[in-house]
Amino acid sequence: MKSYNIDQNGYYGEFGGSFIPEILHKAIESLREQYLTILESEEFQKEFHELLRDYVGRPSPLYLAKRLSEKYGCKIYLKREDLNHTGAHKINNAIGQILLARKMGKKRIIAETGAGQHGVATATACALMNMPCRVYMGAIDIERQHVNVEKMRMLGAEVFSVTSGSQTLTDAVNEALRDWCTNPEDTFYLLGSAVGPHPYPDLVARLQSVISKEIKEQLMEKEGRDYPDYLMACIGGGSNAAGTVYHYIDDERVKLVLGEAGGYGIATGKTAASISAGTEGIIHGFRTLVLQDENGQIKEPYSISAGLDYPGIGPLHAHLAKERRAQVMAINDDEALRAAFELTRLEGIIPALESSHALAMLPKMNFKKDDVVVLTVSGRGDKDLETYLAHKDEFCPND
Ligand SMILES: *Cc1c(COP(=O)(O)O)cnc(C)c1O
Repeated sequence: MKSYNIDQNGYYGEFGGSFIPEILHKAIESLREQYLTILESEEFQKEFHELLRDYVGRPSPLYLAKRLSEKYGCKIYLKREDLNHTGAHKINNAIGQILLARKMGKKRIIAETGAGQHGVATATACALMNMPCRVYMGAIDIERQHVNVEKMRMLGAEVFSVTSGSQTLTDAVNEALRDWCTNPEDTFYLLGSAVGPHPYPDLVARLQSVISKEIKEQLMEKEGRDYPDYLMACIGGGSNAAGTVYHYIDDERVKLVLGEAGGYGIATGKTAASISAGTEGIIHGFRTLVLQDENGQIKEPYSISAGLDYPGIGPLHAHLAKERRAQVMAINDDEALRAAFELTRLEGIIPALESSHALAMLPKMNFKKDDVVVLTVSGRGDKDLETYLAHKDEFCPND
């Protein structure tokens, strides 16, 4: 049978791999040698799942959204990652990686963050495990994401302001990699999405795969069959989507539909749609589809949603798109905003702007009445309230 999963060399088809400076070779190699053994050990599994249950609040509910279903003429279940501790799926990965770091004997955690969501998840896990934590963040993002910066500081993390380049996520990743080059022995780089050099994309996908494991069990209970007709998720780097599709990746009965950030629209160039508008290249240690100019210079991405504002995409998703295993749609800012207000008024759930990019695909679909759809709501919208309120008159003219 055809498999879409990672191969022995760390590639999904032609995407992935490990393109790193020599000085990191040993650190990456030791991670690659140890991660599967540790993840599959009984001790790790026990600690990880106890924390997911008692600290994160898993399993997250699978909620049949009746009014949304009625509107789109099918059965729509929402996978409620927004109900997790710290408000999104990112905590699943942060807890898993910090347990791994401890088992590898690491003493210090570094991370990068754009919107600050992964920074908060990492700072939370570090507070829980009493580990020192430095989070690299672009100076512009520090200005834009004030509340998350304060949360990280309250949790005891050091937020390191990155003033090189465009002073956003791309430069924060570069700076974190530089730190790691200087301290490869004692430091663990806690990566926030299904990106980076092998084995990170596989590591993150495995830690987030608890999402699709639960979907299987919950669908079995609610529908009497353990698979849906459609799985839908948004993609920034690709971790919530990777977790959502993980146990269904080779099950062709299940159609995969992924929403990336179109920004103002691909034609405008103000976009973060790296699958629709990117070309093959290498970024942050792996081969994927990248927003770049003809000289291979990374183009600054744009999206209204800070969490989707990344110029690359996880290698798994580049592969799923290229092989046409997944359908990928670029969702523009205005479409995502409309979807956020729709979910809020139909179901009383304020989604994260990122998740709204998954919801905004619903009107573009052609569902049949009996179709079972599972859509992952990756996070909650508290952090996006200012943005939502700035656009409320456009989308709720009758208030
Ligand atoms: C960070 C974030 C995303 C995008 O990251 P992925 O790795 O693509 O999942 C999506 N939703 C929320 C709520 C986020 O915080």
